[in-house]
Amino acid sequence: MTATDATIEATTEAAEIAEDTPHFRFFELEVLRTRRLGHSFLRITFGGESLAGFRSGGYDQSLSLFLPPAHREHTVLPSTAEDTWFAQWRGMPDEERPVMRSYTVREQRRTPEGVDEVDIDFVLHGTETSAAPAAGSPASYWAGRAVTGRRIMAIGPAVAENKSVRFQPPAATDVVLMYADETALPAAAAILDRLAEGTRVKAWFEVPHEDDRLVLPTLADADITWVVRESGAGRERTERLLEVVRAAGTPAAEAPYAWIAGESATIRAVRRHFVQERRVDRRAVRFTGYWRLGASEEELLAEAYAGRAPSEDPGASL
Ligand SMILES: Cc1cc2nc3c(=O)[nH]c(=O)nc-3n(C[C@H](O)[C@H](O)[C@H](O)COP(=O)(O)OP(=O)(O)OC[C@H]3O[C@@H](n4cnc5c(N)ncnc54)[C@H](O)[C@@H]3O)c2cc1C
Repeated sequence: MTATDATIEATTEAAEIAEDTPHFRFFELEVLRTRRLGHSFLRITFGGESLAGFRSGGYDQSLSLFLPPAHREHTVLPSTAEDTWFAQWRGMPDEERPVMRSYTVREQRRTPEGVDEVDIDFVLHGTETSAAPAAGSPASYWAGRAVTGRRIMAIGPAVAENKSVRFQPPAATDVVLMYADETALPAAAAILDRLAEGTRVKAWFEVPHEDDRLVLPTLADADITWVVRESGAGRERTERLLEVVRAAGTPAAEAPYAWIAGESATIRAVRRHFVQERRVDRRAVRFTGYWRLGASEEELLAEAYAGRAPSEDPGASL
C-alpha cells in the first residue's frame, strides 16, 4: 500500500457520508484548550455541541479535519449537505478553501459535568514558528497557533463500528507487533489504551526528539522500544530504524498481528521486514502510510483522484 492508497482509505470518511445510514458526518469542533505533550506534540482538546453525536470507535480511529487558511480565524464551508459539500468545497477559490487533513481521535470522553470532548495530538513538524505557511504544512501551522474559541470542521464517526478503525486483529492473535512514527503515535497510544489486560505487545516507536517519548498508559504486557531519530532522512533513516528493529528478538507466537503506520517508504520497509524476515503472514499485517516525505496531503489526494475512474472518485460520488 502506498501513501496514496492510504489517503484514499483515509478519505472513506468523506465517501461514506453519502451512505443511507452514514457512518460519518460533519461536526463543528471548537478549541477548548491546548497542551504541549513533548517536543513535537501539541494536544488540542475540542468541544462543541455537535460532539453529542460523535462516536469514536477507539483504537486508531481517524477523522478528516478542515482547517482554515491563515487569514481566517474559523473554518467556513459553503455546504455540509451530503450531496453538495464536496463540489462546493472543491469549487472554492484556492486562497479561501480550507485544507482537508487526516488526524486521529486520541480520546473521546464526556466529563463529569456532561461536556463532550475530543483530544487530537498534532505533530508540529517545523513550520509552527514561521510567520506564514509559505513552506506548506498548513495543518501543523494551524495547530501551532490554535487558541481557545477557534472553530474548525471535521468529518468524523457517527457510529463506533466504521472503516476508519483499521486496527482489527483476528481473534486468535497471540502477540501484537507495532511500529509507529510520531504521526502515528497518537493512534498507537489509543490502541494501547484499549488493549485487554495482559495482551502481549512488542512495539517500536520512532520519534524526532528524546522529549517525545511519552508515557503511554496500558494494561497490555507491552515491551516498547523507543527509537529517537538522529539527523538524516529517507533511506538512511529507514536503514537505521531497521537495524534497531532487527536487533530485537521475535516474541514466540503462533499468530502474530502487525500494525504499522507512519511515513510511506518507512512503513513499506518495516512491512517487508515483518513478512520476509519474521515470517508474519502478510494477511495479518495492517500497514498505513500516514504521510509521504516531500508530498503534501493535497498532492497525495490529487494522485489518488488521477489514478481512479471518475465513478470511483470518493468525492465525485457524493
Ligand atoms: C489515518 C491518518 C491518521 C493521522 N493521524 C495523525 C495524528 O493524529 N497526528 C498527526 O500529527 N498526524 C497525523 N497524520 C499525518 C498527517 O495527516 C500528515 O502529517 C499531514 O501531512 C500533515 O499536514 P500538514 O498540512 O502539516 O502538511 P502537508 O501540507 O500535508 O505536507 C507538507 C510537507 O510536510 C511534510 N510532512 C508532513 N507531515 C510531516 C511530519 N510529521 N514530519 C515531517 N514532515 C512532514 C510532507 O512530506 C510535505 O513535504 C495522520 C494521517 C493519516 C492518513
